[in-house]
Amino acid sequence: MSIVYKSEPLRGEAWRRLFAEALPDLPFHIWPETGDPASVRYLAAWQPPEDLAARFPALRVLFSVGAGVDQFDLRALPPAVQVVRMLEPGLTAGMVEYVTLSVLALHRDLPLFLDQQRRRVWAATRSVRAERRRVGILGLGVLGLATIEALRGFGFAVSGWSRGRRDLDGVACFAGMEELPAFLAELDILVCLLPLTAETRGMLNAALFAALPRGASLVNAGRGGHLVEADLLAALDSGQIAAAILDVTEPEPPPEDHPFWSHPRIWLTPHVASMTHAETGGEAIIDNIRRHRRGEPMLGLVDRSRGY
Ligand code: NDP
Repeated sequence: MSIVYKSEPLRGEAWRRLFAEALPDLPFHIWPETGDPASVRYLAAWQPPEDLAARFPALRVLFSVGAGVDQFDLRALPPAVQVVRMLEPGLTAGMVEYVTLSVLALHRDLPLFLDQQRRRVWAATRSVRAERRRVGILGLGVLGLATIEALRGFGFAVSGWSRGRRDLDGVACFAGMEELPAFLAELDILVCLLPLTAETRGMLNAALFAALPRGASLVNAGRGGHLVEADLLAALDSGQIAAAILDVTEPEPPPEDHPFWSHPRIWLTPHVASMTHAETGGEAIIDNIRRHRRGEPMLGLVDRSRGY
């Protein structure tokens, strides 16, 4: 029985050391080295090999080295393979920082002021108390909930939207497509922290922007596939959307001549909102392998039929 790691090599070396100490009986291979493919039981990857089923017939768990699993073709995986996403405190902390930074920047009109600076304009806007700034989070999962906690610390009026109903103290919670318009209608800043699935692809579109109050802003730290780019550009042009902070695009990076690079009211970051930390990420997989060996449920197990 062995594990193969197929992702960023530096992190692989760090994990090799962690695994040698914590699970000395489990041979750890860094791709393209795999040892005997017939004995590979665990694979930790961002992009698994295309011939995964034929290459590793004894594979039982595919670990995503990131929080999402949208890069996997879930339907093509053998039924016996469980898919587990990365849940680790470093990833969560990074996203909390990124969303807090973005919401504060929008709350304090920073995209406007930076644009003004470039044009040598000195013009103040009226300040708004955080309590009066309505921030809505699409996705009340691990990252959405941690983010809400941090935003509430500043006093923002926070609401959230998820698939199943949530009951959170002090947070207005909305569920399902039928409640989406009511959720959107009350927002100044919308943050997308959804997983990318067949249902959520293209959700950030003209209809959704039209359901927001005029002049609302957007933060997309989910996936590029959530956003219909042309619809965002049109909404920025019309003033329906005031500004957007985007950590993700599709494809990444955008083509050289893409309008996102130079749009005065778009801030673009290169998919850095949060990343798996070598040590805590390795420990999370070690913990899950121990759980799997004991026959216990693993943390971050993906429901393949839902896609997240
Ligand atoms: P979780 O699986 O913990 O949470 C997902 C949330 O989205 C849940 O609240 C879920 O609802 C909701 N949701 C999913 N589908 C729908 C739907 N069709 N309608 C309404 N709500 C829906 O995910 P995480 O919080 O851990 O991560 C979210 C995403 O963030 C990742 O999938 C990834 O794409 C992105 N990400 C981006 C990073 C970056 O650097 N930019 C880094 C890390 C993650 P319910 O609670 O009812 O199930």
